[in-house]
Amino acid sequence: MPDLILAHEPAIRLAIFASVLAAMAIWEVAAPRRRLEIPRVLRWSNNLALVVVDTLVLRLVFPMLAVGLAVLAAERGWGLFNLVDVPVWLAFAVSLLVLDLSIYGQHVLFHAVPALWRVHRMHHADLDIDVTTALRFHPIEIALSMGIKLALVALLGVPAVAVVVFEVVLNGMAMFNHANVRLPAGLDRVLRLAVVTPDMHRVHHSIERRETDSNYGFNLSVWDRLFGTYTAQPRAGHEGMTIGIGLFRTRRDLWLDRLLIQPFRGRAKAEEPGVAAGGQKPDPTPPV
Ligand SMILES: [Zn+2]
Ligand SMILES: [Zn+2]
Repeated sequence: MPDLILAHEPAIRLAIFASVLAAMAIWEVAAPRRRLEIPRVLRWSNNLALVVVDTLVLRLVFPMLAVGLAVLAAERGWGLFNLVDVPVWLAFAVSLLVLDLSIYGQHVLFHAVPALWRVHRMHHADLDIDVTTALRFHPIEIALSMGIKLALVALLGVPAVAVVVFEVVLNGMAMFNHANVRLPAGLDRVLRLAVVTPDMHRVHHSIERRETDSNYGFNLSVWDRLFGTYTAQPRAGHEGMTIGIGLFRTRRDLWLDRLLIQPFRGRAKAEEPGVAAGGQKPDPTPPV
């Protein structure tokens, strides 16, 4: 089974990506959570074009990606799980947990360090939140994440199949929890005991800084509860809340070229609207 997954890895990834994207898009039309402010075609075309840029950058910057390194580490005996004799299921389970915790920690870091926030805030500057927001990350952030993941894979000796499963699940979960979908309240309550739901992650896209700096998890909801960064609901309610950050609030800012230069534009974090101590809501300029 693991060999079968690794042999067909690119096709499996693409098939699951396309299926989840399509399923969420249909769900968003059938049961939307919020009314979208921006025409879909503008955000979708640019957010999807960014995926192409990100994929190309990854291929160009790294001689090998995480799965390739995991295979190599296993052959060469690099990393903890390739050195000590542990059951495969244990190495697999611990790897998934450690990878998920590292994504959480990395996300906290990208909010805390001003230079990293400049790179990450492009994800937050989307003026609506839907399934394609899950794909909206600056290529520099994508490359830094890959660097961290490669280090972790080599140090821990993560099994290659765990890397594939983690990446596919993370991608699918991100598309699920960014989706503009309405879940029955009871189902949301039960689900978020274990995983990050759309209502839980939407809080993270609030313009209010206190809410932006919470709910960092992408897969398991336990990290936010454990480290005290959990916010249950947005202050203004899911329909009333403003999505985005104080900067980059025009429709022109949603174009691919603007997305790519956002880290180098605008004010530093401390001067950003919406960052003021106390987290008062700035007057968000309506998208024009
Ligand atoms: Zn964030
Ligand atoms: Zn997000």
